[in-house]
Amino acid sequence: MKYNFVIIGAGVVGLAIAAELSKHFKDILLIEKWGHFGEETSSRNSEVIHAGIYYPKDSLKAKLCVAGNQSIYEYCDKYSIPYNNCGKLIVNTSKDNERLESIFNNANELGARDLKILNKNEIQKLENNLKVESAILSPSTGIIDSHSLMQTLEAEAINNGVDVVYSHEVINLDNITNWKITVKDDEGSEFEIETEYLINSAGLHSDKIAKMTGLDIDDLGYRLQYAKGHYFKLNPSKNTLVNRLIYPIPNKNTTGLGIHVTLDMGGGVKLGPDVRYLDSNTLDYSFDDELKEKFFDSVFTYMSNFTIEDLNPDYVGIRPKIQKQGEAQKDFVIKNESDNGFPNLINLIGIESPGLTCSLEIAKLVKNLI
Ligand SMILES: Cc1cc2nc3c(=O)[nH]c(=O)nc-3n(C[C@H](O)[C@H](O)[C@H](O)COP(=O)(O)OP(=O)(O)OC[C@H]3O[C@@H](n4cnc5c(N)ncnc54)[C@H](O)[C@@H]3O)c2cc1C
Repeated sequence: MKYNFVIIGAGVVGLAIAAELSKHFKDILLIEKWGHFGEETSSRNSEVIHAGIYYPKDSLKAKLCVAGNQSIYEYCDKYSIPYNNCGKLIVNTSKDNERLESIFNNANELGARDLKILNKNEIQKLENNLKVESAILSPSTGIIDSHSLMQTLEAEAINNGVDVVYSHEVINLDNITNWKITVKDDEGSEFEIETEYLINSAGLHSDKIAKMTGLDIDDLGYRLQYAKGHYFKLNPSKNTLVNRLIYPIPNKNTTGLGIHVTLDMGGGVKLGPDVRYLDSNTLDYSFDDELKEKFFDSVFTYMSNFTIEDLNPDYVGIRPKIQKQGEAQKDFVIKNESDNGFPNLINLIGIESPGLTCSLEIAKLVKNLI
């Protein structure tokens, strides 16, 4: 079998790339090891459409998130994908506004839309279960039905002629004149596929795929560190506790955004995720119930009218981080590897949050890199 393009990984990013490339090119294969799309990180996240608030200036995360916020709402409207443009508050429990203002200024410089700083009275008119002094209101933040988004992207790709193949794992790569890909199906049979362009969108396994191409992933800084995040769900009687997403102010140099309160598309309220680096890169989705108290204490500093008994274990997601524990935030790697000798290889490594929000813009960037 011979293709012009092979994309490894049917998460939201691989699907968006397949849909985008299918508008411009022919002979495209999207290959996924599980029996369905979105079986890993793309189904284990907060489903938040971020506005682009916290990222370093000039980073891909900032640029793609600000643009992605707009393009994802437009895509949802075009294809009737459910979303809730509920907005978000970043809340400050202290009377000192310095950190809040610095986040506000950074976000404005990045181009995040319509942000406003609110005082206590203004916040109380929007939310009556918060114990806070001030907040940033981000009206363009929202939540999305990510399953519907992925389904729509898959349908768009297939309608435009992309071959989407599930239950096939890429196990080896050779670069002769083209890429020779060895694939194993779920019955253990192996066969080979040839392609001119290879696009590595393998999420938590993208460093292993990069290694298979022959690149030195340690030298290039591509080796991933897995960082787990837990979610607790509040009892349904608390579904009306808040009307929008509520985030604390993240500590400087933190590896996450702090345990926040999110809404889901079913009307439920979730707390999380936390950030816990794993010792080994295994897909450990086990849930640590003992985190309940930590989650309660952390959210109770800024929200009231719920008890620890309202928290129920929900699910876990794993972030593919490039930065090690304690290191500053690093940017997405989205790169044509021509300067490493492979002009026909595009690597996407470290696509953690806000990867869902950025997915359509990442796909456009990949098309431009080709
Ligand atoms: C806890 C958490 C919360 C998050 N919250 C948000 C949020 O609110 N908003 C937001 O914008 N982003 C969020 N994100 C980030 C977002 O979920 C990811 O950036 C996005 O899902 C990444 O998609 P992906 O397609 O790159 O990866 P994945 O969804 O992991 O897809 C990669 C695919 O590649 C396949 N694959 C791997 N190796 C092979 C192989 N050898 N052969 C064949 N197939 C292979 C895998 O099976 C997988 O399906 C969050 C992430 C986490 C973990």
